[in-house]
Amino acid sequence: MRQNFVAGNWKMNLTLPEAQALTSEIVQMLHDELLGADSPQVVICPPFPLLPAVGHLLGGGPTPALGAQNCHQKESGAYTGEVSAKLLQSIGCQYVILGHSERRQYFHEDDALLSQKLKAALTAGLKPIFCVGESLDTREAEETFDFIAKQLKDGLFHLSNEEFDQVVIAYEPIWAIGTGKTATSQQAQEVHAFIREQVAQAYDAQAAQNTTILYGGSCNAQNAREIFSQPDVDGGLIGGAALKSRDFVTIVKSF
Ligand code: 13P
Repeated sequence: MRQNFVAGNWKMNLTLPEAQALTSEIVQMLHDELLGADSPQVVICPPFPLLPAVGHLLGGGPTPALGAQNCHQKESGAYTGEVSAKLLQSIGCQYVILGHSERRQYFHEDDALLSQKLKAALTAGLKPIFCVGESLDTREAEETFDFIAKQLKDGLFHLSNEEFDQVVIAYEPIWAIGTGKTATSQQAQEVHAFIREQVAQAYDAQAAQNTTILYGGSCNAQNAREIFSQPDVDGGLIGGAALKSRDFVTIVKSF
């Protein structure tokens, strides 16, 4: 279901005490400042070992929800150092980020692998937050739309209608991630509208209307309201600014 949505991707940051302090602050602020029927869906995605402690502080309700940053494609087995979707679900995760550009780039995750990870996540009952986004070279070559269309087609659109219903899409232009160089709200809107159009073609108009599409890349407490005001932007996937409680909660309140 399409909804206002903010997810924090903590990436490889924070120790256990730091994570506990940050989570407690966020929970308190959300409670004091926001809880209401139409408050956005909030998801916090810490590194694997912090999931149980953060999940405990989040309280296990539908929002704020717990999410992971990755999962393995197999259900179990001899895969040293890996974590299955089934395990993540069993410790209280409701979401999992898949296809983040850092995983595509540094860990060579391609569309074929991501297709398997999506299936594994859905089978375990996790909702995937599936990331797409172009590099600066691709943008400058004016190939952004072709590139995104291919990522969607090869990575995501193999899902059935029922499976696709569970997916949140995040548009994260690589050139905007961690660079302080955010996409303009027009650039974000243009790609979000394009993604919605691709969903309509692959599934149907109803599916396109129901899909939650997030923007990610140097989104912060100052620019979130402008970006979220775009008609096809349903919220954000937040990196750096999700590590500061005040900034993160301000972003959550930016609808
Ligand atoms: P920043 O908000 O730090 O640019 O990171 C965005 C991101 O990659 C979220 O997944």
